[in-house]
Amino acid sequence: MTNNESGFVLIVDDTPTNLAVISEALSDAGFETAVATSGERALKQIDRRSPDLILLDVMMPGIDGFELCRRLKADPLHQEVPIIFMTALADVNSKVQGFELGAVDYITKPFQEREVLARVGTHLNLKATQEKLKQSEARLETILNSLDEIVWSAKLQPFQFIHINPVVEKVCGIPAQTLLENSAPWLNNIHPEDLERITQLFLNPQHQQRIVAEYRLKDAQGEIRWLKTKAKIRFCENQQQFIADGITHDISERKQAESQLHYTACHDDLTGLVNRSYFIQAVDQVLTQQTQERFAVLFIDLDRFKTVNDSLGHHRGDQLLIKIAKILSQSVRPVDVVARLGGDEFTILLRNLCDDDEVQVIIGRLQQKLETSFELDENITVAMSASIGVVVGSSKYSSALDLLRDADIAMYQAKKLGKACHQLFSEDMYETALKKINLEKDMRLALRHCQEHRSELTVGEVEGAGSNQAQEPSGSKLEFMLYYQPIFALSHLALIGFEALARWHHPTMGMISPAEFIPLAEETGLIVPMGEEILRQALAQLQDWQTRYPSWSKLTMSINLSSRQLQDPDFLAMVDQAVLDYGIHPSSIKLEITESLLMQGGEAGFAILNELRARGFSLSLDDFGTGYSSLSYLHRFPINTLKIDRSFVQKLEPGVSSFEIVRTITELARSLRMDVIAEGVETTQQSDHLKSLDCEMVQGYFFSKPLAPSAADEYLAEIQAKLMLAKDSSEFQGAQAEHLKMLTEDISEEGDIAAAA
Ligand code: C2E
Ligand code: CA
Ligand code: CA
Repeated sequence: MTNNESGFVLIVDDTPTNLAVISEALSDAGFETAVATSGERALKQIDRRSPDLILLDVMMPGIDGFELCRRLKADPLHQEVPIIFMTALADVNSKVQGFELGAVDYITKPFQEREVLARVGTHLNLKATQEKLKQSEARLETILNSLDEIVWSAKLQPFQFIHINPVVEKVCGIPAQTLLENSAPWLNNIHPEDLERITQLFLNPQHQQRIVAEYRLKDAQGEIRWLKTKAKIRFCENQQQFIADGITHDISERKQAESQLHYTACHDDLTGLVNRSYFIQAVDQVLTQQTQERFAVLFIDLDRFKTVNDSLGHHRGDQLLIKIAKILSQSVRPVDVVARLGGDEFTILLRNLCDDDEVQVIIGRLQQKLETSFELDENITVAMSASIGVVVGSSKYSSALDLLRDADIAMYQAKKLGKACHQLFSEDMYETALKKINLEKDMRLALRHCQEHRSELTVGEVEGAGSNQAQEPSGSKLEFMLYYQPIFALSHLALIGFEALARWHHPTMGMISPAEFIPLAEETGLIVPMGEEILRQALAQLQDWQTRYPSWSKLTMSINLSSRQLQDPDFLAMVDQAVLDYGIHPSSIKLEITESLLMQGGEAGFAILNELRARGFSLSLDDFGTGYSSLSYLHRFPINTLKIDRSFVQKLEPGVSSFEIVRTITELARSLRMDVIAEGVETTQQSDHLKSLDCEMVQGYFFSKPLAPSAADEYLAEIQAKLMLAKDSSEFQGAQAEHLKMLTEDISEEGDIAAAA
């Protein structure tokens, strides 16, 4: 015992000498002391100040030691105060009774001072330690109770909580106490899909094993909660048991956010169908599975959707897409996957097919359901149909993207067959598609070369293009260039202009017909830059001729336009800039458009045609008679010239229907104050018939094939010379016609594309 002992000790004894001796000894040892000579005095003293320890004599008059002890142990305020009895050496009974009453120790009289100090010191220390422990337990309890996490310990064999904080009730609705008595409700509420996995984790416990798991638990309201548990297992020697200590917290919110994110990442906002990336994953999954499952991918594209969207507005377009999505989902089985790729493109993965016929049945059902009228808001109904491409899954596919590509190719073929068709993918479709893709690539490249070549020419060079001898303004080395087919006034066979016809000299494939590459350019949108290139080449050529051959200052240039070009918002500005750059008056330019452009162009197209007319351009209606035969609409459009399609011209014989058609067209044109040109004139008879029908202008192999720029230039130069020599106009006409014949026979076939004609 050292001198720095501390503690407040109450000594109770009815023998004052005892009190004095002990009190002195304790004070000397550094303890604080108080004394009481009876039980009654002791109680008063204790009420004033609770001691840290009591040394209590047993035998006292009045309230004796045992009675005092009994009272203190019953009083919650003082029951923790350790009591040491002081008793006579032989008095075994009172020792036993003292311990039974809750005393911590006894001291035998007569006192040994060192023993008293030792015992008092020990018990005070013990009390202090117990107090500290209690405090830290209370602290721990407060912490545990204030946590959001469930902190627990459990025996594992079988599973039974031995500790769990009250938070558990907040999380799962079961009071901690209930779970401590019986942990079965906890296990019973684990989601059946997770239970097996979770029990497996605790099945073969190892000392120091760490466990992390996420699982679902049904709470008291029957709602599913996501929990995350981190636990560590230890072997408890005392209990000969594995015990897990863990922390579990509610991650429901995080899981919900995650699944929300996952949903958005996989779904199409508008229709709620899964999106492209999800679809690709789903197909890839089927491709990688080991089973020989029969499956197919459908690529569905709505017919005419663009028209609905453009004419009725995006809002109704969206409405329609939602309805279509619903129909598609309802037409397949739960195992199938329906996705929206974007726009009006949908895909379906058909799974677990019995045979190939089943695909046909499903497609038949789909097309039938889609081919109904859809009611949109404000009583608007639209008729719909879809083109469907089909690929049947096979071992040759290793990637979903390949399947999707082939389904797309097949859909494209279906579209070509007309509306509401479907096509099964075949290898040669792939070849064709590949060819097209390559052609498109080459076309872009060729176009870029053209554009680069033009930008290399300074404005000065463009202006000076007419200064010297015959040349091709845009360079003969270009892949894309124009040939020029002469156009004549039929009455006196005078040259009045040329039609510019696009040519593609492909470096390896040779000459490619405009009938082949113009549609591809239209499809890909390349027609817009290509159209500008064509216009500029034609204008440059015209400028060259008009300056070099003053007699031809009225020479016109006919240029073909695609409807796609007119849809381009910059079209007018582009045309304005081009005529400005080459100093060409719009009246020298005839723009050839088709009937379909008139019919589909809508109000916007109509406005652009008027704008062009207002600038002085002439408008010719190309291939007239083959299209929509919208004769009744014709007067509404600002057209100058009807160009009779060569199919009528070539069957031109009196008595046959073509003859009457051509007659009707010329009469119609006259009544609408339009003039008429016939294309594709190949024989004297055709020319004569046209003359008899008062057709003003002609164009065709009979007069001249389309000429390369150099040949056209040579032709103009010759006529110019003849014109200067000619004594009168009929002599000139004769000379001109003769020259033309010569030229037509001379010219290599290179520039003409018989196949396309
Ligand atoms: P198109 O505008 O109807 O052009 C007339 C086509 O008939 C030209 O074919 C021409 O070579 C051919 N042809 C001329 N005279 C005769 C004849 O007596 N008999 C026969 N059988 N054919 C004759 P080409 O040059 O192959 O052009 C085909 C089509 O390609 C053009 O038809 C036009 O629709 C389109 N096209 C050509 N160049 C352009 C262009 O620069 N822009 C646009 N958008 N389309 C063009
Ligand atoms: Ca034409
Ligand atoms: Ca034509």
